[in-house]
Amino acid sequence: MLQLEGKTALVFGVASEDSIAWAICNRLEEAGCKLILGYQKRFMSRVFQLKDKLSAIEAFYPIDVAAEETTAEFFHEWQQVSPGAKADIVIHAIGFAPRECFDRHMLFVEDDALNTAMTISAHSLQRIMRHALPHLAPNSSTITLTYAASTRYVPNYGVMSIAKAALEAWVRELAMRVGEEGHRVNAISSGPIRTLAASGIPGFDDILDHVERNSPLRRNVNQDDVAGCAVWLSSPLGSGVTGQIIHVDAGYSSTMVPDSISD
Ligand code: NAD
Repeated sequence: MLQLEGKTALVFGVASEDSIAWAICNRLEEAGCKLILGYQKRFMSRVFQLKDKLSAIEAFYPIDVAAEETTAEFFHEWQQVSPGAKADIVIHAIGFAPRECFDRHMLFVEDDALNTAMTISAHSLQRIMRHALPHLAPNSSTITLTYAASTRYVPNYGVMSIAKAALEAWVRELAMRVGEEGHRVNAISSGPIRTLAASGIPGFDDILDHVERNSPLRRNVNQDDVAGCAVWLSSPLGSGVTGQIIHVDAGYSSTMVPDSISD
């Protein structure tokens, strides 16, 4: 039904078994996809341990999206080993901001830290797509991961809110630029999930508690909830969807005043 048998997915953003990207890998394998992973060198040993758990992983190469050359190397290596290979699916599950972005008053975060956060967490979608474009199969699907702090204030998310707003704008822009060739670009806006990236956000556990109490489903989402949506969007079932931000957050983004106020 998903028609993903034999399709190839490039997946960027596996750092541990808790990574949202890892859950997406699991679901894509179940759907019959082959996987090519791009991993950050500092997580190499963890990724090497994980790779044997999924037989769908055909290859994995290092990537650092902070720079043009280190991004190009990933695509060069992939194409050297598999000349002419095409990707049907691209998963961009990458986010990072230097510590200073969370520890300093927002007004005084310096340019270097701001630029790093923006390059890695937002502009890297453009960079990856630019390199991927010549190797995309017809009607490909690219998916990135965002968070609702892009449009509404969330305590302590700071610079990452700006980066997510820019990332979402990239989704709309890129969807328009590549849509004529049939390629789709979307973002999944995930509710909070405990992962390595999330562990750097001060007060994260309080946000989890708040969402659990106040979302329509009265729970938090998990990696699998997000992966299910990613697989749907990757498949022809999502063929009419592009340029969208799709919330997988137990419905939290549909609320404004907590229901408990009426108690
Ligand atoms: P994670 O720490 O497992 O994944 C983050 C990934 O980004 C890691 O694999 C890391 O290697 C990669 N990365 C960082 N800098 C990189 C660089 N320079 N080059 C290449 N890769 C780099 O955490 P996660 O929560 O699975 O994060 C995945 C995505 O989901 C991120 O964009 C994050 O902002 C987003 N997201 C997470 C949550 C949450 O609560 N966990 C909520 C909404 C959105």
